[in-house]
Amino acid sequence: MLDFDKLIDEHLKKENRPKGIGRYYPSEAGTCMRKIWYSYKFPSEVEPELLKIFEMGNIVHNFVVEVLKSEKVKDIELLESEFPFREEVEDFMISGRIDNLIKIKASGKIYLVEVKSTKSIDYVKEASPHNVQQLQLYMHFTGVHNGFLLYIDKSNLKTKTFEIEYSEEEAKRILERFKSLHKHLKEENLPEAEGRSHKEIKWMCGYCEYKDRCHTDTPKAKHEEE
Ligand code: SF4
Repeated sequence: MLDFDKLIDEHLKKENRPKGIGRYYPSEAGTCMRKIWYSYKFPSEVEPELLKIFEMGNIVHNFVVEVLKSEKVKDIELLESEFPFREEVEDFMISGRIDNLIKIKASGKIYLVEVKSTKSIDYVKEASPHNVQQLQLYMHFTGVHNGFLLYIDKSNLKTKTFEIEYSEEEAKRILERFKSLHKHLKEENLPEAEGRSHKEIKWMCGYCEYKDRCHTDTPKAKHEEE
C-alpha cells in the first residue's frame, strides 16, 4: 500500500527555525501584535495540515507567474517575481519577498502585484486590510507606488483584483507598529491582545495557536464582555 499522504508530509517537513528578534516580516504587518510577539517568544512547530495549505498557495503563486510571463499574454510584461526585499529601520530590519513586478505595456505603468490564494473567491468582496498593509509597506520601500492585490481561488483559479492606492501616512503608521513590536520584544513586555479587543480583527483569534496562553495571560481583554 502506498501512503502518499505520508510522503507529502515527509517532503514538506521543515526544520523549526525560531524567528530572531530584530527581523520582522511585512506579511505580519496587520496581524495581532500579541500573536506576533508570542511567535518570537514561544515558537511553535507548523502543523502538517497547515504546511499543505501553504504549499497549495505556493503552487497557485507559481501558476500566476506562469500566466504573467506567458508569451501568449500580450498586455503585461513580468519584470521580476519572488524578489527579496530588506530594509533597515533604526536598530531592526524588515524583510520579505515581493511576489511580482509587472509593466502594463499600453501605459508603461509599473505595478507591484501581491498574490493571495483563497478557499472561495465568492467571499472576497474587498481587499483584506492586513493584505493592504503588507502591500503598503512594499510600495513604500520600493518606491513603486502602484499596486494590485490579486486574490485567486485555489479550487477553480477564478480571480478578483483590487488596485491599492499608496498612502505614505498609512505606511508610516505600519512602520510605527513594527517599532512598537520591537520595543515590546526587547523589553519583554507583552503587547495588548489586539485580536480580542478590536472586532475588525477578532477573526484572527480563531486561527491563533496561542489562544490558551493569551487567555491565561489576560483573562479579560479590553472591550471584552463580562
Ligand atoms: S488569541 Fe487573539 S488576541 Fe490573543 S494572541 Fe491570539 S490573535 Fe491575539
